[in-house]
Amino acid sequence: MTDSIFVEALMRLDKAFKFSDINQEALEKLKYPKAILQVSIPLRRDNGSLQIFTGYRVHHNDIRGPTKGGIRYHPNVTLEEVKALAFWMTIKCSVIGIPFGGAKGGITVDPKQLSRLEIERLSRSYIDSIKNFIGPDKDIPAPDVYTNAMIMGWMMDEYSKISGQYTPAVITGKPIPLGGSQGREDATGRGAFICIQELRKKKNWKSQEIRVAIQGFGNAGQHIAQLLYDAGYKIVAISDSQGGIFRPEGFDVPSIIHIKNNSKKIQAVYCTNSVCESIEATNITNEELLELDVDLLIPAALENQITKDNAAKIKAPIIVEIANGPTTLEAEVILIKNGKMIIPDVLANAGGVVTSYFEWVQNKAGYYWTLEQVHQRLQEIMVREFLAVYQLMESHKTDMRTAAYIHALNRHVEAVLAQGTESYFDGT
Ligand code: GLU
Repeated sequence: MTDSIFVEALMRLDKAFKFSDINQEALEKLKYPKAILQVSIPLRRDNGSLQIFTGYRVHHNDIRGPTKGGIRYHPNVTLEEVKALAFWMTIKCSVIGIPFGGAKGGITVDPKQLSRLEIERLSRSYIDSIKNFIGPDKDIPAPDVYTNAMIMGWMMDEYSKISGQYTPAVITGKPIPLGGSQGREDATGRGAFICIQELRKKKNWKSQEIRVAIQGFGNAGQHIAQLLYDAGYKIVAISDSQGGIFRPEGFDVPSIIHIKNNSKKIQAVYCTNSVCESIEATNITNEELLELDVDLLIPAALENQITKDNAAKIKAPIIVEIANGPTTLEAEVILIKNGKMIIPDVLANAGGVVTSYFEWVQNKAGYYWTLEQVHQRLQEIMVREFLAVYQLMESHKTDMRTAAYIHALNRHVEAVLAQGTESYFDGT
């Protein structure tokens, strides 16, 4: 990862700036993270040796509320990446209109090389290292790539022990018995699904005719696959970090999820109960998946997947970004020139943080909602903000990402102006 990812992320602001009511001061503030913490995390390995890992937590901006954002465990985590991810969280919370700023955290580690007990010790140790930087009214972490509900539960437990009181609102994405919310597990996929369904209404699609390719089969990838499959869409290609499978007739998604969660592999199978039989499909690479002739392409893995090198080869007319930052700036120019539409990450994957907000509200109130309430409130927010972004896209004759950034900047500037800017203080 080069250090351009944060610099590149900021460039999207300049494009939106031209269309929004934001003033230069407010824009300037968004270009600098509020605070950065780098920590060295000691881990006692199962074999008795000591290993030190590097971790980060970045607060990007907190004018609209406490900072919010996930924690990622990945060997490629760098400070620049975490800064970019924290910036995207500020934009995302503003696009979707929830009262949070942006943050992100990460540890440079390959969790696949650690035992479960080592992951627990590392997670608790990380919280010990960042305890003064987070808090229920300060900065609230959540899951991200290769972290999950169980890890959030350990982290909440560790924080509660350190602070001497049960503090569920310090972290979201927890298991339901430990103060998690109904509906948080599939919320990122569900939010993207709601966007796709709204677009379907605008475009008059029949779901049965829509062929979908999904890159990445972690939490978000699996849930979007299941939701689209249930709604009749044809899922023709799926991949994980090892590669993927393609079948023009479409896959039986529950079978693929079943085998992935049991064997950790993507395999072309059809299962009856838990007995799975192989079916015919073509093995493809992650790069090939992106270039398939499909109607919807869903990058749901990592950033920088669609670059200037493959952008011209993308055939899908619609790209729905469930990963954060899967399309580079240069790639986007090519895609837009070729008439592609991108539902941007800061809108398409916002269902996760919206439901995290619900979880935080429930933790603070000590009063828990039903699954139906969560789904209904998520639907309400996602539809409202999707339509607002869509309308800005049409009225400014621009692309959807720029429209989402305009929407975010307009909300952001309301908060900045409420504090007073240069013009207020010099009396003009
Ligand atoms: N990691 C998720 C994201 O990138 C969720 C963040 C949260 O729930 O705070 O949006």
